[in-house]
Amino acid sequence: MAETANKETLSFQTEVKQLLHLMIHSLYSNKEIFLRELISNASDAADKLRFEALARPELYEGDGDLKIRVSYDKAARTITVSDNGIGMNREEVIRNIGTIAKSGTREFLQSLTGDQAKDAQLIGQFGVGFYSAFIVADKVTLITRRAGEKQGVRWESDGTGEYTIEDFDKPARGTDVILHLREGEDELLSEWRLKSIIRKYSDHIALPIVMKKTRWDADKKEEVLTDEDETVNQASALWTRPKNEITEEQYHEFYKHVAHDFEAPLAYTHNKVEGRHEYTQLLYIPSRAPFDLWDRHQRRGLKLYVRRVFIMDDAEQLLPTYLRFVRGVVDSADLPLNVSREILQESKDIEAIRSGCTKRVLALLEDLAGNQPDKYKKFWSEFGRVLKEGIGEDYANKERIAKLLRFASTHTDTEEQSVSLADYVSRMKEGQEKIYYVTAESFLAAKNSPHLEIFRKKGVEVLLLYDRVDEWVVGHLDEFEGKPLQSVAKGGLDLGKLEDEQEKKAHEQQASEYKELTEKIKKTLGERVKDVRVTSRLTSSPACLVADEYDMGSNLQRILKAAGQKVPNTVPILEINPDHPMVQRLKYEEKRFDDWAQLLFDQAQLAEGATLEDPAGFVKRLNELMLDLAGGGSRIWTPN
Ligand code: ADP
Ligand code: MG
Repeated sequence: MAETANKETLSFQTEVKQLLHLMIHSLYSNKEIFLRELISNASDAADKLRFEALARPELYEGDGDLKIRVSYDKAARTITVSDNGIGMNREEVIRNIGTIAKSGTREFLQSLTGDQAKDAQLIGQFGVGFYSAFIVADKVTLITRRAGEKQGVRWESDGTGEYTIEDFDKPARGTDVILHLREGEDELLSEWRLKSIIRKYSDHIALPIVMKKTRWDADKKEEVLTDEDETVNQASALWTRPKNEITEEQYHEFYKHVAHDFEAPLAYTHNKVEGRHEYTQLLYIPSRAPFDLWDRHQRRGLKLYVRRVFIMDDAEQLLPTYLRFVRGVVDSADLPLNVSREILQESKDIEAIRSGCTKRVLALLEDLAGNQPDKYKKFWSEFGRVLKEGIGEDYANKERIAKLLRFASTHTDTEEQSVSLADYVSRMKEGQEKIYYVTAESFLAAKNSPHLEIFRKKGVEVLLLYDRVDEWVVGHLDEFEGKPLQSVAKGGLDLGKLEDEQEKKAHEQQASEYKELTEKIKKTLGERVKDVRVTSRLTSSPACLVADEYDMGSNLQRILKAAGQKVPNTVPILEINPDHPMVQRLKYEEKRFDDWAQLLFDQAQLAEGATLEDPAGFVKRLNELMLDLAGGGSRIWTPN
């Protein structure tokens, strides 16, 4: 009996309890995955040891033969997964096993629906790894010792709320995870069953996964264990095998291991690059965005190996930020084994790998967009907003990225972003020279923007941009296939050949007819406007605001202000619609001219989603004007 000391009983975080409970229920139909998860952790632990041992070979403690052992005990009804990897000390066990150090756990739990199938996917995506042991076990014991340290620890829990942790003698470094099976799970206590689970889910693991061989005992009439080891998996790094020897399922299982995901990937690309730089890349696009995709501390990057030795997780230098959703492995033949994150930042080899990986991912996306539109649609809804960042970030690939973009537009008038710039160009009207777009804070605000009125009337398509990142896109994308992008809310509206001579004349005439009025409004509004002019953009609204050609648009101003940034003080131009009765009335208004002018300005602001500086004043003016109209017993005045 090993000596025990320093026993503590600790509670799980509340979130862990909830998560465990949900997980057991929602993942039960796929219960074998517990083994995949424990083996995946054992393999990670071996990788970490190999890497740390590059600088401190003594960590091997004389045993450099890394492997994972799976064993079972029928009488005790246990399954044990052992590794001789890095191991953990007491603090690490508490941190890694007793807490879920992931931001947004609470939000995640709130997002669960109660629908088992859906929740199972969500839980998998959250990455419950180690805890999946509780699907089949009602008690889990973990005994571990960190390489290079003396004291081992024993952790135990029944997964309902508490766990114990105590010192424990463990001569061999590494970790044993012992599962005490739940009632009714005895079918797992079989060599054949465990082997088939390992071959199905963990064949790709590069380390040997060994089990003791069994033999048939004729006297006992049952299988008994021998002392001989047998390696159950292929035990070679998956990415080094020839493509035609790897099945789709193996690619998928490998993905789940490297990405810590429970769901199969959407797509992948596997290549061996030869020539000046030699490396292998196996890159995956996940099916679903992690729930913390927008968290800047989120895990990202690829696993980096050098000649099959694990170097680091999350090597973010291997891909540009806008491809941060990509997961996978790069194995370089050129880099030194002692490469550090600092070296990575400067390395010419890394630059070449990064540019090679970027091109591969873009090619994969182009392939999906061209040949598997449903998959591309899925990709776009999960990661489109991230890819859009590439327009400003990756100058060299800007044109390729531009072709991959998808937007909402007045052509479909739905929120779904499905229109490519090429689609748009193919639908451009005779005489149309520009690609028109509007930016707003939400789809509805974009769709209902007054600036679209004339375009809708003329049947000219306008892109509806409502993601924050769209401002960044249009800020960096001036043209597509020679067609300039033009905001419908900026500068003087020049419809070019979309307008005939007669319409142009009519506008000129209105402009001079309303000159006096526009000047008078401008005087009233003072510094709040840069100019007031007659518009040709509107058909049904009385007024709208536009930004001067080279000024910052109002949506971008709002975004930057909300982010706490300083914004140059620019004021909009008020455009009024001479065909609107309210504007026509103003020509003759004397008594309350100032209030009407102010009201026009305020409602134009509201229509584009701005908040008013003086909302109470607006309401008061509006009420007074309404009372005025009601008191006169008349409707809104209309010219006859
Ligand atoms: P993930 O593998 O996605 O990090 P897990 O729940 O599977 O999440 O594991 C949680 C953490 O526990 C791991 O990140 C690792 O630090 C630690 N851990 C689990 N199993 C082992 C092991 N066999 N050896 C060393 N550390 C382990
Ligand atoms: Mg894991």
